[in-house]
Amino acid sequence: MPDMPASPLLDRIVRLIETQGPMPVSDYMARCLGDPEHGYYMQAEPFGRSGDFITAPEVSQLFGEILGAWIVHAWEAIGAPDPVALVEFGPGRGTLSADMLRVARLRPAFLKALTLHLVETSPRLRAAQKKTLEDTGVTIRWHDSTATLPDDRPLLIVANEFFDALPIRQFVQGGAGWRERCIGLDEAGGLRFQAGLASLDEADLPPHLKAAPEGAVLETQPVANAIMQDLAGRLAGQGGAALVVDYGYGKTAVGETLQAVRNHKPVPVLETPGKADLTAHVNFEALARAAKAPPVAARPLMTQGDFLLRLGLLERAGQLGAGRSLAEQDGIRDDVERLAAPDQMGELFKVMAVAPQDVRLAAFDAA
Ligand code: SAH
Repeated sequence: MPDMPASPLLDRIVRLIETQGPMPVSDYMARCLGDPEHGYYMQAEPFGRSGDFITAPEVSQLFGEILGAWIVHAWEAIGAPDPVALVEFGPGRGTLSADMLRVARLRPAFLKALTLHLVETSPRLRAAQKKTLEDTGVTIRWHDSTATLPDDRPLLIVANEFFDALPIRQFVQGGAGWRERCIGLDEAGGLRFQAGLASLDEADLPPHLKAAPEGAVLETQPVANAIMQDLAGRLAGQGGAALVVDYGYGKTAVGETLQAVRNHKPVPVLETPGKADLTAHVNFEALARAAKAPPVAARPLMTQGDFLLRLGLLERAGQLGAGRSLAEQDGIRDDVERLAAPDQMGELFKVMAVAPQDVRLAAFDAA
């Protein structure tokens, strides 16, 4: 294949398998995305037309402005605390935070109360975020994980296309039971999937899947669930709210969703480790379970299309287009379609809100 980039990570993974045996899918995914030297987010240029994929904040400023309006509303709904931490997970180029802060500027008291906390493991992307956000005048702290987030103030948390990048495990029904799917070596020394030894924790298998046919694949997301559990505990103790936007499903089901994308096209998962983005659909049922920390709970899941429309996407698009050229208005209309139309991002992408049950969240809870 002419456009297939060399993958230095491939050699390293092959050597690891040779010495340590088959590698679970979760381990493979974590290395492909996060290897300090050759991991995808450490060296690639993921975003935009020239990158590998486009995310909602990169489609249009409308996305971040609406999330910003939701956050300002949530801040007021929890009593307008000062100080407060605005937290974004996996901020990419920093576009979403920049757009949210532009809206926050309309509430000077909020802007004054907040510090911005970015949870980001890639030094490259941290630099990009710094550049995008340096003119905002807001104090920014970067974090490798949730461990160092402030513990003395409420948290307002946003995560767009973050949870899909966290390592998943896969289990295959082999006839005699579920076995973890691993990556081993074929005769030619290349990578291939094979069954490993670990079996599935019964707690991860809902009753309706007990009779899944041979060959069925079940995915679990231990890292995503652990992060959500941590956040829910913090929200219960410190107050605040979280908004998670990602592609995924609302009910646990069998089916393989692990996918690799390069140049806006799907590529084989094992072909070019570190050179393609690797993601899995988010299991929002499992995430909601992890978000239970009374009085904190997840609200019923909403599609991205419904969420954006309820919060005035069309009205905002109209304002943005007012006085612009016809071509620019067409462009805005295309962006709206892209974000909210059911056959584009509107239905596959879901929005989950998490907060103490007595907090009234815009779009989710009755006013
Ligand atoms: N939210 C952005 C970018 C999504 S891409 C947008 O919508 O455009 C995923 C982001 O999560 C990247 O910034 C990536 O570096 C970051 N990321 C991936 N795994 C991570 C981890 N384990 N901890 C922190 N950040 C991570």
